[in-house]
Amino acid sequence: MNKHELKKIKKTLLKKEILAFDQLTKSQKTKLFKFSETYKNFLNQSKTEREATRQIIAAAKAGGFVDIDIQTEKNSKDTRKIYKVFQGRCVALAVLGEKNPVSGTNIIVSHIDSPRLDLKQNPFYEDLNIGLMKTHYYGGIRKYHWLAVPLALHGIIITSDNKTISIEVGEDPCDPVFTVTDLLPHLAGKSQGNKKISEVFEGEKLNLLAGSIPLGSEDEKDRVKLGVLNLLYEKYGIIEEDFISAEIEVVPAGKARDIGFDRSMIGSYGQDDRICAYTSLEAILGMQHPDKTSIAMFFDKEEIGSEGSSGAKSSFLEDFMSDLLFINGQDTDNRSLRKALINSSCLSADVNAAMDPDFKDVHEAMNAANLGFGICMTKFTGVAGKSGSSDASAEFLGKIRQIFNKNKIAWQTGELGKIDQGGGGTVAKFLAKFGMDVLDCGPAVLSMHSPFEVSSKADVFMTYLGYKAFYSDNV
Ligand code: MN
Ligand code: MN
Repeated sequence: MNKHELKKIKKTLLKKEILAFDQLTKSQKTKLFKFSETYKNFLNQSKTEREATRQIIAAAKAGGFVDIDIQTEKNSKDTRKIYKVFQGRCVALAVLGEKNPVSGTNIIVSHIDSPRLDLKQNPFYEDLNIGLMKTHYYGGIRKYHWLAVPLALHGIIITSDNKTISIEVGEDPCDPVFTVTDLLPHLAGKSQGNKKISEVFEGEKLNLLAGSIPLGSEDEKDRVKLGVLNLLYEKYGIIEEDFISAEIEVVPAGKARDIGFDRSMIGSYGQDDRICAYTSLEAILGMQHPDKTSIAMFFDKEEIGSEGSSGAKSSFLEDFMSDLLFINGQDTDNRSLRKALINSSCLSADVNAAMDPDFKDVHEAMNAANLGFGICMTKFTGVAGKSGSSDASAEFLGKIRQIFNKNKIAWQTGELGKIDQGGGGTVAKFLAKFGMDVLDCGPAVLSMHSPFEVSSKADVFMTYLGYKAFYSDNV
């Protein structure tokens, strides 16, 4: 066999890994940098699930989508672009297709909650004449990430007379910020040096500095706490008890930034999973007359197991699908709904972990995802022997692979870590229970679940193109 023949055989037989930046055309590269700017803007405006919901609805309205709850009341069948919001924390968009939804739809499901600290319901106290607020962390955090960094408060408070007060402190450069203090290295050796990392950082010590000016005369108790509460009363008209009915989320203060001399990467809080929320949002906004109905779902509570009425285990999808059948003039009986769900195809749009040059040993390199290699297909998640995973079928993976190849989407596959190294899950199994095909599919990021997650701009753009191709589904 000569060299030429061998080269030909290699080209035919061996799997190619293509850097997304190599795959992109010149005009796509220009678009990619513009796309990254609007993505960063979305991240900056969507630091909580409620804020993300508001951004998604605003974009949907601007794109001609109408509220299905208003539409169903009118019983109008003219509208093809629909959205539905639930509890202000999760949202769904659809573009009705030519085909009857009962024969199946194309669904992309992401989540818009991110790991963070929440204020406790009784947060305020003082110690050593310093005013503090207690927090309870939400989702999988590394506790030390949250020490000695500027933090912002975002959220709502429901007062006793049922008023909703919105709070956002720490994002405007003129705003004060909050912080959790850390122990100085000079004194850390003895008390922390030989402890396990899980023992060094305690959840009950994630307390925020809230103020230090006392109110009233020296013989009074808790004067600093009173000073803080007095300021809150003056500014928002709220009292201590109002925090019982409040959701105040503590998130890293500041904006998404470009990373690297070449500005090829994005660093930001909350890219898991607003990276998939934004790319699927942009993909569905661009759909005009799809063959099959395109649906984008944005769920809350993924980071704590998709529980509750706004998580993927809820009946939000069934309710939305039922509304779509109604709008489309179908029966909305249980059989039609079940058929619409069972015949659907779904991408569980979530991030995977990219191989980290400094932590390679937790991955199995042949099957790990890498930054910059495009959208990542994850056949299964779970722990140990794929436990707790919805294992995507070979047939469905084959179909998605075909769609991506046909549309020149740079893609890769990725397992989350070495066998028995750890693991994780996504919303995939909560969609798979309806009988639909589901595949985990999204970009891989570095520093996942940290306050400054890192994505590749090329991966973000490829993910958008991949989702668009999935909705267009012309294989
Ligand atoms: Mn996620
Ligand atoms: Mn996550």
